[in-house]
Amino acid sequence: MSNFGSFEYRDNQLFAESVPLAEIAAEFGTPCYVYSSAAIRSAYQAFDRAFGQRNHLICYAVKANSNLAILNLLARLGSGFDIVSGGELQRVLKAGGNPQKTVFSGVGKTSDEIRAALAADILCFNVESEMELMALNEIAGQTGKIAPVSLRVNPDVDANTHPYISTGMKENKFGIPAAEAERIYALARQLPHIRISGLDCHIGSQLTELAPFIEAANKMLALLTRLQSTGISIDHLDLGGGLGIRYNLESPPAIEAYVRALCAATENYPQQLLIEPGRSMVGSAGLLLTRVHYLKHAPHRNFAIVDGAMNDLLRPALYQAYHAILPITKRTGETKTYQVVGPVCETGDFLGHDRDLIVEKNDLLSVMSAGAYGMSMSSNYNTRPRAAEVMVDGSSVHLIRARETIEALYALEKLPPA
Ligand SMILES: *Cc1c(COP(=O)(O)O)cnc(C)c1O
Repeated sequence: MSNFGSFEYRDNQLFAESVPLAEIAAEFGTPCYVYSSAAIRSAYQAFDRAFGQRNHLICYAVKANSNLAILNLLARLGSGFDIVSGGELQRVLKAGGNPQKTVFSGVGKTSDEIRAALAADILCFNVESEMELMALNEIAGQTGKIAPVSLRVNPDVDANTHPYISTGMKENKFGIPAAEAERIYALARQLPHIRISGLDCHIGSQLTELAPFIEAANKMLALLTRLQSTGISIDHLDLGGGLGIRYNLESPPAIEAYVRALCAATENYPQQLLIEPGRSMVGSAGLLLTRVHYLKHAPHRNFAIVDGAMNDLLRPALYQAYHAILPITKRTGETKTYQVVGPVCETGDFLGHDRDLIVEKNDLLSVMSAGAYGMSMSSNYNTRPRAAEVMVDGSSVHLIRARETIEALYALEKLPPA
């Protein structure tokens, strides 16, 4: 089994840093997300250190996991943020994040979101269309601001990842087609309430090789050179996020190798480098703790029915994603092959297929590498309260989000008059 960093067995008991996960389950119940602050800190520091003397800014992609405690931990380490909504902006501000280190991505920024980001004086708007650029100019004019802008250019690179998380091919909805970028930069230069600040791309998520990143970087640099030859100056180059993590048998590049490759590809350019890592910052730093409620042995299949489900962790149902599933207490006995499924009324509700496990009723299981796009994609489907979230720091355990109550789920609902 691969190495799960801050989560390891001691005497057949799985620990998060110095805390037995069984204790966390006893105190906070299941399902429960557990994060290792040491793992998040070490990922941030690995990115930061690998840049060495290069002028850089790491903008954590908030959508991967937007809990205030995680944003606050990263803000204290010096991280910037990549947001994709006004809600994420509000979270960053609430968590003590620096708006001057915050960039705003996304194809559908609303006027209200743009106004809030202008009021907060964020570092840069990553603009994804000509119409958005015009709207931004107009709103900035109305509010007496100058909007700092990068155009997000679609470099038409195949990231070689799942089609739902590939964003940099010409058929995707993201970014401005490379062929139009120069015209729209020239237009941006004419707009009175726009200041051109950078150049941006983001080609997809869970990339497991360096080549597409480098191909995209080279295309951006060629464009940057053409822009500068027309007198447009670019202060920063934002190369997006997307570095993959190991869920199963993947072997993504290490953080250090990835950053060094970006630095090498751009070494002749003085621009500040921005990156927007999400998954690689928090993915391996979290797990979903769940309890086995029933075992069902059908003629051709064994089911382990657990209290975590697709509403808690959507990735298996949405992308057929693999997450390792480990017992919290290792047992001896007969191994059986299980379908690990949740209680939600959908055949797509599974956490793992064909897993060899030795389990009994009431055993605890851990769904690994669930720190990114786990809680942040969760829902209340089947009127299931969202899981509790816990952060471990050495031997301390902090509840960072209480389990939702059922009452909270319908608190906003109203019966029309009879
Ligand atoms: C989702 C996203 C990221 C983060 O991607 P990861 O694969 O989690 O690193 C970065 N930038 C943008 C624009 C995104 O949409």
